[in-house]
Amino acid sequence: MKCKDVVKELADYLDEALDPTLRMSIEEHLGNCKDCRVVVDTTKQTIDIFCNSEPAPLSEPTRERLHQALIKRLRRRP
Ligand SMILES: [Zn+2]
Repeated sequence: MKCKDVVKELADYLDEALDPTLRMSIEEHLGNCKDCRVVVDTTKQTIDIFCNSEPAPLSEPTRERLHQALIKRLRRRP
């Protein structure tokens, strides 16, 4: 397995949708290749951030300001 093969299978690997044999080859490669470990870790972290971040709920004053701004903007239309 080469670095570019790891990258090619990365999405499936992180999805845990990979064939177990292929998965083992990747893990073996990761054990020997620091570059790929960095890539895998970084990608994993990025995915975690995306999956865990929910849109922040708007606080009442923010919502109010947004509302007012929208109303103003709508009124300006002909
Ligand atoms: Zn590699």
